[in-house]
Amino acid sequence: MSEHDDTMPVSADESCIACGSNSIDSVPYIAITYKSSSIFDNLKIRYCLHCGFGWSWPECDPVILDNFYADHYRIPKKSVIDFQRLARPVVSSRRAIAQLLLARQFADVRSGEMMLEFGPGGGAGLDAACRVLDDPTLVAVELNTGAADGYHQLYGAQTYGDLEALTKSGARPKITLASHSVEHIRLGDLSEFLDRVFALMAPGGVFVAEVPHVDMRIHRETRTHDDPHLLFFSQESLKRVFLNSGFEVPFVDSCAALYETWWTSIQGEQDQSNLSILRRLFFRLPLSTQTWILRKYHAIRRDEFNFDSDEFSYGGNRTCLRVVAVKPN
Ligand SMILES: [Zn+2]
Repeated sequence: MSEHDDTMPVSADESCIACGSNSIDSVPYIAITYKSSSIFDNLKIRYCLHCGFGWSWPECDPVILDNFYADHYRIPKKSVIDFQRLARPVVSSRRAIAQLLLARQFADVRSGEMMLEFGPGGGAGLDAACRVLDDPTLVAVELNTGAADGYHQLYGAQTYGDLEALTKSGARPKITLASHSVEHIRLGDLSEFLDRVFALMAPGGVFVAEVPHVDMRIHRETRTHDDPHLLFFSQESLKRVFLNSGFEVPFVDSCAALYETWWTSIQGEQDQSNLSILRRLFFRLPLSTQTWILRKYHAIRRDEFNFDSDEFSYGGNRTCLRVVAVKPN
């Protein structure tokens, strides 16, 4: 019996898919970012008091969810990424470099071996792979069809629309990277997704995933919005879902900014909005001008690899989690 049992509105048939506990509580889902869509209205977040795993409930309809991503999230006009203007970053993403350095610590990756990335977005992970790995064979799973051309042109990557198409291609990745993707998966699809990736990967291969660190047992009062995320991970639950699919988990820890620092920074609304206006203006400039400015900026700052960056920091109450999951030999 858990100490929480007498206060929990628990239905007897509901249990946590990460740890099996049925000590479940819930909080309202905060939908602010995508107000034009009704898909995130009237949701709750159920979360496990035992391991901290959280999931939005009721489950979103998969077809409506796909339409949401097609209409609101993926098309160039409204999304943060304009795939038609995809370019190699002037300075590699510290986050992506940190993720791949971590992967290399736990797998013997040889020249030419394959890296798979789920949802490469602007291509930071593919760019980092070209720098951290020796002549990698790159494959991607990305639903935006416009992205495939860019990834191929810039990084020689082969892109597939879904996991099924990738599996049929006979791909056998040694490294799998999913940076801020797993939290977009529906609860009912998570185990199958991880089982299928496990089957696909080369023995001795390593799966590095990064997700937001949202453990409702400690973070329920430090959230700004939940949409469009469907899953919410504590350190323990992130480890458990990979173990449940047959992976070994030699590493899991918090990373990125400390919660305290991040929460303080978003209270300074005025600074934040000035910064976002500047950012919007910058992205309206012609691409060649943007690149020129960035090159000048980094030539002056000379801090391409600031290892003091939060992206290289681990431990404590930080805003993200990184896990290393290995498929045993
Ligand atoms: Zn649990």
